[in-house]
Amino acid sequence: MDTQKISLLEGREKQVYEKKSGQTEVDIACDTTSLSGSVSQRACVFCGSRVVLYPVADAIHIVHGPIGCAAYTWDIRGAVSSGPELHRLSFSTDLGEMDVIFGGEKKLYRSLIELIDQYKPNAAFIYSTCIIGLIGDDIDAVCRKVEKEKGIPVMPVHSEGFKGTKKDGYKAACTALMKLIGTGSTEGISKYSINILGEFNLAGEAWIIREYYEKMGIQVVATMTGDGRIDAIRRSHGASLNVVQCSGSMTSLAKEMEEKYGIPFMRVSYFGFEDMSKSLYDVAQYFGEKPEILEKAKEIVHDEIRHYYPEMQKFKKALTGKKAAIYVGGAFKTFSLIKALRTIGMSVVLAGSQTGNKDDYRRLKEMCEEGTVIVDDSNPVELSKFILEKGADLLIGGVKERPIAFKLGVGFCDHNHERKIPLAGFVGMYNFAKEVYESVMSPVWQFAPRKGGIK
Ligand code: SF4
Repeated sequence: MDTQKISLLEGREKQVYEKKSGQTEVDIACDTTSLSGSVSQRACVFCGSRVVLYPVADAIHIVHGPIGCAAYTWDIRGAVSSGPELHRLSFSTDLGEMDVIFGGEKKLYRSLIELIDQYKPNAAFIYSTCIIGLIGDDIDAVCRKVEKEKGIPVMPVHSEGFKGTKKDGYKAACTALMKLIGTGSTEGISKYSINILGEFNLAGEAWIIREYYEKMGIQVVATMTGDGRIDAIRRSHGASLNVVQCSGSMTSLAKEMEEKYGIPFMRVSYFGFEDMSKSLYDVAQYFGEKPEILEKAKEIVHDEIRHYYPEMQKFKKALTGKKAAIYVGGAFKTFSLIKALRTIGMSVVLAGSQTGNKDDYRRLKEMCEEGTVIVDDSNPVELSKFILEKGADLLIGGVKERPIAFKLGVGFCDHNHERKIPLAGFVGMYNFAKEVYESVMSPVWQFAPRKGGIK
């Protein structure tokens, strides 16, 4: 396959950058709507809000729109719950032609009443989809009416799919959460307390992280939204610090909480030994007046790395010199992945994200080696082109990137919503190295058309 023949679409050139020597400034176009016809890998506004709110497990989630929108996001994250599992049910008003002509408000009202009576949730989230933006249903009025009648918070999520980028969906989700925050009692919350933001408890990751902080003597008031509970969210304004991981999705919430409740926030990442350790140390230093917290953090880091690092050496030996391509939702995760891959001897030849901003790409450029391609809001053709051209042995992405890797005959590691094994925390770094090793070194590649026929 001659990859030179695969050209970039006109209008996409500004969102693709190759690091070359002598270049000082990166001015990659980003934060913009996807180019029509480019078949972007990026999800819609509605999907953005759905992924953020999905793990709130004791609320019902109703997709107001045609059934396709609900099907698209049904059970969208591998977010697990330690209790109720209402989040895994994808309710929809299933709008049809007659509803589009005459309006869907009555149907939404009836659905809400029926579902609240049947499931007794602690709250309800109502998602607006594209069609609602077109027909103009007043979902706020329906939510207000039901909230009054049933006595639980009923939150509209204004996430009409066409009205922006996936990031606007994150913002709509944060606006809905903000309506809940501040409505609960803060009694019993310690001075040494945090909220974990942007952690979605995929394969139980929030439990791992929570345990580290609790061992350090820090109270975790709410996790947003992994293993999320309405009551915890309502009292989360009582925490002393917000610790934000998936910064793309939750920074706006952290900023609003800072403005309204004076809670400062810090960005962290739980992927890789380096960033995981830093996340514990940074929080410990914030609570510096209590030195035992830092001592405990050092102990955890020491014990965990001593346990997992030697185990990983066999993976590193086999993977040293292999090349990886990364295409994930938020750019912040890319930084951690680059460091984690270096820990196991691998380099990165392609790095991209769906929702990165100019600062993210500037930092990415600094971290990447010469020749690395950086892409914003990419599509399957571009990803295939660069994976082949750069000779990547592995693609790290999500469910939509998996077929690209397998068709090209390269290994794949799912680092998105659907993953079934925890990749966060110290144990997560070990799992990540094992997963990469098993995929890249799999004997199956002897029988597959390696890299589209390129040897
Ligand atoms: S909200 Fe619009 S873009 Fe999103 S899944 Fe529904 S129809 Fe598609």
